[in-house]
Amino acid sequence: MTDLYRLLPEEMEQLVIDMGYPRYRADQILLPLYYKFPKDINDIPQLPKKLREDLTKAGYTIGSAKEIHRVVSDDGDTTKLLLNLPDGTPVETVLIQYPSSKINGHPRSTICVSTQIGCAMGCVFCATGQMGFEKNIKAEEIVAQVIHFANILQQRGEHVTNLVFMGMGEPMANYDEMIRAVRILTHNRGFGIGQRNITISTIGIISGIDKLAEENLQVGLAISLHAPNNELRKKLVPTAGPNSVEDIIEAGRRYYKKTGRRVTFEYALMKGINDSPEIATELAILLKGNGSHVNLIPINPTAGNFNRPTQDNVNEFERILSDAGVNCTVRIEKGIEISAACGQLRTDIVG
Ligand code: SF4
Repeated sequence: MTDLYRLLPEEMEQLVIDMGYPRYRADQILLPLYYKFPKDINDIPQLPKKLREDLTKAGYTIGSAKEIHRVVSDDGDTTKLLLNLPDGTPVETVLIQYPSSKINGHPRSTICVSTQIGCAMGCVFCATGQMGFEKNIKAEEIVAQVIHFANILQQRGEHVTNLVFMGMGEPMANYDEMIRAVRILTHNRGFGIGQRNITISTIGIISGIDKLAEENLQVGLAISLHAPNNELRKKLVPTAGPNSVEDIIEAGRRYYKKTGRRVTFEYALMKGINDSPEIATELAILLKGNGSHVNLIPINPTAGNFNRPTQDNVNEFERILSDAGVNCTVRIEKGIEISAACGQLRTDIVG
């Protein structure tokens, strides 16, 4: 069985040609796939019955995610779904809306997709990391998460404006499937979202960063740093292994040089662990002058034993970075009370 959502538009074209149909039939499949969200090949009535039959006989299907559970934050801006992927695997996907930030009159609507079930990186403050690694998610299953939310938003007259690969898993550890999904989702005959509206987040897999830089894509890169030195970082990201802080920052520099896209360093602030003024100074020295941006994220409550720093500590940390000329913002977390914020996703906890 092959899910039609797995195919790039060029592959769809080749498929219909190989089946003896004219090229334009591919667009008669692609358009409804990405604008009408059919659940079955027979839900595309504009396709000749014979082509629908041939596709089905050849083992093609349309996979869709099934919603198992939905939780919405108190302000209504964050929606976390537990979805069953077409093969029945449960996964969490989150929609975060920013009503004050309008795009063409609609709220900015960001989908946070998962690329793996669980994660092998084992970051000590992350609920997904504490699940361990279960499996990689296929490209069509990443697409299915987006399509599910696109359908929900379309019914409200809204649409997906941004995608972040920051859900469960390390995207670079599932590189080929992640990049196939990016190409399908950004293709102008596919889902058609702008490359610049996508951010790929990594814990710092250097080989993945370098590979991504060569893809000729304009996607944003976010590197989760969390510590300015290797000793502390290894405590927080036990699998950091040979990737030193200096090497990761250098990889970020190469990405910027190659793509022209500014790299964001994510920094989860944990009380008493990595939030002191001394550590802020160390981070400022490390990042000074390299044109990157730091996103400070006061840690969310997870299954780990980490606490959120006080607002004063956060302000002081930010001030030290800013005074040193390091571009810096404090990320306003959404969906904390429904465990939908960064590092809070895991499939055995709902709500
Ligand atoms: S923070 Fe990211 S890389 Fe680390 S365990 Fe969680 S999902 Fe994996």
